[in-house]
Amino acid sequence: MSVIISSGASHKKLNVPGEKEFLGKGVSYCATCDGPFFRDKDVIVVGGGDSSVQEALYLTKFAKTVTLIHRKDRLRATKILQERAFNNPKMKLLLSSVVAEIYGDETVKGVWIKSTIDGKEIKVSVSGVFIFVGYVPNTLFAGNILKLEGSGYISTDNNMKTSVPGIFACGDARNKMLQQVVTATGEGAAAAFSAQEYVDELKGTAYK
Ligand SMILES: Cc1cc2nc3c(=O)[nH]c(=O)nc-3n(C[C@H](O)[C@H](O)[C@H](O)COP(=O)(O)OP(=O)(O)OC[C@H]3O[C@@H](n4cnc5c(N)ncnc54)[C@H](O)[C@@H]3O)c2cc1C
Repeated sequence: MSVIISSGASHKKLNVPGEKEFLGKGVSYCATCDGPFFRDKDVIVVGGGDSSVQEALYLTKFAKTVTLIHRKDRLRATKILQERAFNNPKMKLLLSSVVAEIYGDETVKGVWIKSTIDGKEIKVSVSGVFIFVGYVPNTLFAGNILKLEGSGYISTDNNMKTSVPGIFACGDARNKMLQQVVTATGEGAAAAFSAQEYVDELKGTAYK
């Protein structure tokens, strides 16, 4: 028998009031999926890394304003992305700030923003809250069995073999550079092929 793990990865949550309640009603983790719903609206983007700045820039194609909120006093994103963001007239930057609460009725109407310096809170009216504060692999169940790398991604070789013979892994759960559908499906094919070879070897029917 062989096993292929393809449990993917999940977005990190802010875990603030309103985040769960307004998911799909103004709260989103995907600018490419939901950006067009916010044409001429004010939105905020939470995060300070490359993906948050990239997604914020993408949102400027639709939104009236995009306010990037980051808990630290400077962004972690690469300089070129920061320059693009700062030069975009639709972009605003709010540093040393966190989202304390997302409020609304049927849909999001705004957020309470808390300063990480003096704890003061301000109310900001927005229609959309896009959250990009990281990605975590769904691999908790594998931690005691397989070798993990980075922040819990499954270590494999190029043939999708993990540290345990007979167990293979593919897709976003794997430690790799690019997390995309096209890479996940290719790795799925490679994992299936490797798993088949492993079973054939166990049965003594491997083609040599
Ligand atoms: C919001 C969003 C937008 C994206 N947009 C794009 C895009 O435009 N283009 C692109 O190429 N890529 C995009 N991606 C990335 C792409 O979706 C992933 O790279 C791809 O889906 C990874 O495939 P996967 O099979 O590894 O994981 P997934 O597609 O995430 O599938 C993992 C599955 O495993 C299940 N699972 C998790 N844990 C367990 C468990 N313990 N037991 C059983 N099942 C479990 C999950 O419920 C899920 O069904 C996007 C991702 C997100 C989140």
